[in-house]
Amino acid sequence: MTSAPIRRLLIILGDQLDEHATLLRDVDPDHDLIWMAEVREESTHVRSARARIAVFLAAMRRFADRQRALGRAVEYIRLDDRANTGTLAGELRRAIEAHRPRHLAMTAPGDWRVLDALRRTAREAGLALELEDDTHFLCTVREFATHARGRKQLRLEYFYRELRQRTGILMDKGKPAGGRWNFDAENRRAFGAQGPGELPPPQRFLPDADTRDVLAMVTREFADHPGSLAAFDWPLSRAEAMRALEDFITHRLPGFGRYQDAIWAGEPWLYHSRLASALNLKLLNPRELVQAAERAWRDGHAPIEAVEGFVRQVIGWREYVRGIYWTRMPGYLDSNALEAGEPLPAFYWSGDTPMACLADAIGQTLRVGYAHHIQRLMITGLYALLLGVEPRQVHAWYLAVYVDAVEWVELPNTIGMSQFADGGLMASKPYAASGAYIDRMSNHCRGCRFRPRDKTGEHACPFTVLYWGFLLRHHERLIRNPRMKMPLRHLEGLDDAARRDLQARADAHRSRVRGGAGA
Ligand code: FAD
Ligand code: SF4
Repeated sequence: MTSAPIRRLLIILGDQLDEHATLLRDVDPDHDLIWMAEVREESTHVRSARARIAVFLAAMRRFADRQRALGRAVEYIRLDDRANTGTLAGELRRAIEAHRPRHLAMTAPGDWRVLDALRRTAREAGLALELEDDTHFLCTVREFATHARGRKQLRLEYFYRELRQRTGILMDKGKPAGGRWNFDAENRRAFGAQGPGELPPPQRFLPDADTRDVLAMVTREFADHPGSLAAFDWPLSRAEAMRALEDFITHRLPGFGRYQDAIWAGEPWLYHSRLASALNLKLLNPRELVQAAERAWRDGHAPIEAVEGFVRQVIGWREYVRGIYWTRMPGYLDSNALEAGEPLPAFYWSGDTPMACLADAIGQTLRVGYAHHIQRLMITGLYALLLGVEPRQVHAWYLAVYVDAVEWVELPNTIGMSQFADGGLMASKPYAASGAYIDRMSNHCRGCRFRPRDKTGEHACPFTVLYWGFLLRHHERLIRNPRMKMPLRHLEGLDDAARRDLQARADAHRSRVRGGAGA
């Protein structure tokens, strides 16, 4: 460590690996020090899966090497450095003592918890923490706050259209390209009995020697953490991320829209991009994704429904959930509008359940650190919603298990979209469905010991049993929601005895799972 005072300590976090960040524009290697730290707390505040930990650490090391190669001064604290205090605050304190910087500067962090800890540390040291806007987003938090002001409910569709108009993305002379804003109707297909056929396998990035070192360290240091590293193949540098983007645009984007909601057992990737982790590490800029997708449409390589569907995810949902996070934190974390209090089932950490859909989604999650959106929303998320799991426990699971998991995007998706715990701020109705939905969108039910449409009897599908229990439990709460009128109408045909029977079946299932059973 140097002892001469430095001018600026430039803090770079594990999810800020952007070579083009404003923060890095005028680095003076003689007076500015780039500072990065691997700290245990970031992997233990939720018990993170090994693949998630490894993605962050391996990508950070690559980034630091690149900065050094550019001639910049870098201090990099490794997780297994003896003096490592294990927390970002502790390490920053040490760095301030050692280098006595005049300024602390960083790109605005993604997580409220991290910003809070770093601000406090800076304040204790008598320094201001200077924050640069994160240019990885098309909409600033201030712009989102303006959009949200005065609205009781937020809706993606309004926000998304505004953003497209403002940025000109996928627009032709002020009108939506392709003539429509929304191609959802074309984008909800299942594969049908014949299945997906031959799928284009995504490009893999097999670990080099440095990454293998990280994998070995993660295995050693996080021996009791969930998940496997055997199939680890994520893009970890900007160059790899660019190749992953090109691979997606060329081979999978054309099928993306149509099969966006489809699920197929044993097929984790289908037509999805696998780009969320590279985006969230900031190896890629979302503008690059949407420009590449738009170009593919204009060149006739991909249909409009695929391109619009993809653009909607990247500049619609992704920006929207970030706005919700930063305008609602820290209270958002404790949202629990449905007063759900069940513990997270033990099998979420093993996949050991006879419910075929859950066994596949959880098994794959632990194996590769990935599940696509509909697996997250309509299998693992749906089951937790119907069972009534306490939202914070659901949140801790999602934040722990995925390689792309960072709180600003994970939390609104979990609390708002999947668990309806914010009472409808983000989603207009709960994403509640019975086993029939999973049967329609996947092939899981064919290989399951339960029957998706049975709500009674020995083969009753737990999703269907719980769905009826959910409608009965929340009837009073949801009756005023116009979008729940149709589902709740199903209850009208039931007499009291039938209602009691369904509620008892749902309660019995909840009680079995609470006791540790797999179904
Ligand atoms: P694709 O299906 O190829 O989609 C393209 C890109 O669009 C993604 O890479 C992602 O950046 C963006 N995107 C798509 N859907 C969403 C969405 N709902 N919100 C924000 N961005 C979206 N995404 C994360 O990046 N990190 C998370 O921690 C995360 N947690 C989630 C938790 C739950 C309960 C749910 C329901 C969704 C979560 N998502 C999260 C959103 C989405 O599931 C993932 O972005 C997506 O599955 C990542 O895979 P992909 O890169 O192949 O995405
Ligand atoms: Fe899942 Fe029910 Fe279908 Fe089994 S029958 S796979 S539990 S939805």
